[in-house]
Amino acid sequence: MADELTTPAELAAGNFIAEFIKEDIAVGGSYEGKTVHTRFPPEPNGYLHIGHAKAICVDFGMAEKFGGICNLRMDDTNPTKEDVEYVDAIKEDIAWLGFRWDDRFYYASDYFDQMYAFAVELIQKGLAYVCELTPEEMRSNRGDLSHPAVSPYRDRPIEESLTLFEKMKNGEIPDGKMTLRAKIDLNSGNFNMRDPVIYRINRLHHHRTGDKWCIYPMYDFAHPLEDALEGITHSLCTLEFEDHRPLYDWVIRNTSVPAVPRQIEFARLGINNTVMSKRKLRQLVEEHHVEGWDDPRMPTLCGLRRRGYTPASIRNFCERIGVAKTNSVVDYGFLEHCLREDLNLNAQRVMTVIHPIRLVITNYPEGQTETFEIENNPNRPEDGTRTITFSRECYIEAEDFIEEKIKGYNRLYPGNEVRLKSAYIVRCTGCKKDENGQVVEVYAEYDPDTRGGDTPDGRKVRGTIHWVDANSAIDAEVRLYDNLFTDPEPDTGDKNFLDYINPESLVILKNCKAEPALAKATGDTRYQFMRLGYFCADKDSTPDRLIFNRSVSLKDGYKKK
Ligand code: ATP
Ligand code: MG
Repeated sequence: MADELTTPAELAAGNFIAEFIKEDIAVGGSYEGKTVHTRFPPEPNGYLHIGHAKAICVDFGMAEKFGGICNLRMDDTNPTKEDVEYVDAIKEDIAWLGFRWDDRFYYASDYFDQMYAFAVELIQKGLAYVCELTPEEMRSNRGDLSHPAVSPYRDRPIEESLTLFEKMKNGEIPDGKMTLRAKIDLNSGNFNMRDPVIYRINRLHHHRTGDKWCIYPMYDFAHPLEDALEGITHSLCTLEFEDHRPLYDWVIRNTSVPAVPRQIEFARLGINNTVMSKRKLRQLVEEHHVEGWDDPRMPTLCGLRRRGYTPASIRNFCERIGVAKTNSVVDYGFLEHCLREDLNLNAQRVMTVIHPIRLVITNYPEGQTETFEIENNPNRPEDGTRTITFSRECYIEAEDFIEEKIKGYNRLYPGNEVRLKSAYIVRCTGCKKDENGQVVEVYAEYDPDTRGGDTPDGRKVRGTIHWVDANSAIDAEVRLYDNLFTDPEPDTGDKNFLDYINPESLVILKNCKAEPALAKATGDTRYQFMRLGYFCADKDSTPDRLIFNRSVSLKDGYKKK
């Protein structure tokens, strides 16, 4: 295979997976003439998170890169915690990221009959036996590095195991009373090889197979079989499966499967100030610490989508963090950085005031309105222009006015000139206060010769502030988000992650004033609210009640570091 398959980003990140696949193709052997075929195997027991996005980008991305294909397979061998709701959500999220599985959508449970047959094959070959140790006994008999594991049932005759395994299947044996174990090596330094259990009895209803089965295959036995049955060439998974690879290969070698997939492991993605396990994410949802799986503070793909993340920003993030062999924690700021890069190019610019105070331009004629034509996106002239109005009163941010000058403050204070973005230069003349001393209105005079914001005499005006015409402003609710956890690593060591929930992770501002253009905002359009950040309409936003989520602020903390 030619080297141009490696992109510069991969070289930088050292994509060893691509290198391995290239070697396999070059060597031929069992890969001879094969199309690279990968799979993404989520367990449908929760929504996908940004860690899964990395695995999806690796699995689908590697296939794409080599002109191959990638299957989507629900890993539903464990009947306890599966839910149909999750299956649809998983498909939606992967499709949203832009990956396609076409008609290659599978359930691991579709292979239960074949898995059973492969287990029988192992027994017949003398490579598996029915064991009657209880789980506790098995634990106390597993030995240690200087002592082998022990099972008194290991040398049970093949015929006996065959009969007992069938009885297990037929529901004649109580739960937990017997297991089927692979006969490998009770002395192995790798405990996964010490005659691992490959089938257990578990009378649980399965969401697809119903009550047909009361025995279920263990992951380590099932997964290689699923891969082989689908003709997977490269089974890419996370590092915790590295110690299980000898068992994966053993299952492939000792059963009459139609293909020889190769397992390659890469590091899990961790991100700071959040948690990434489905169990913990589910706890956040079920205990109502967040609004749901798609709460914009969640690291789930549906949460990130609702927050305003784009598929491109997530794919770009995954490509740039690369794949490695050591687990590491990526700075949340880098994910935000990737989003900013995308939105900076593509978001429409608008003005919205989130802490409004009224500015009255006292020398502007009452009842008069004029218009300005401004570019929607200076980076993309093809996005056109829109009309905004200007009149005697507008809203500005309360923090853009102070009563007394302080050093370095270039916005409104009595006597100072400021540019109202794209409109006029105004000079502050004072303010009105209520009985509590609160500023309720700011006053200024405009310079009619500065239409568009330029000074004819070239005088310097340092501050530029955003504003919204009070005559045409519409009301909006704005939601600002911060890290869900105050601790960068809320779930390490003895910590209970729930103790570190950030009480300020959501700030709701109900009284915001927006340009009328935003009345038509839908979730698909991304906006830059001038000076405030990137925003999108929330899924609950309606023309009667506009709601905007801040996807990310403008300030890039990542570049600073
Ligand atoms: P969790 O611990 O969040 O429940 P999981 O590994 O049990 O994760 P699965 O549904 O089994 O979740 O994962 C499907 C695939 O996604 C697996 O191949 C798994 O290795 C991969 N994956 C899960 N979490 C991460 C992560 N943080 N980084 C990279 N890949 C991940
Ligand atoms: Mg799992």
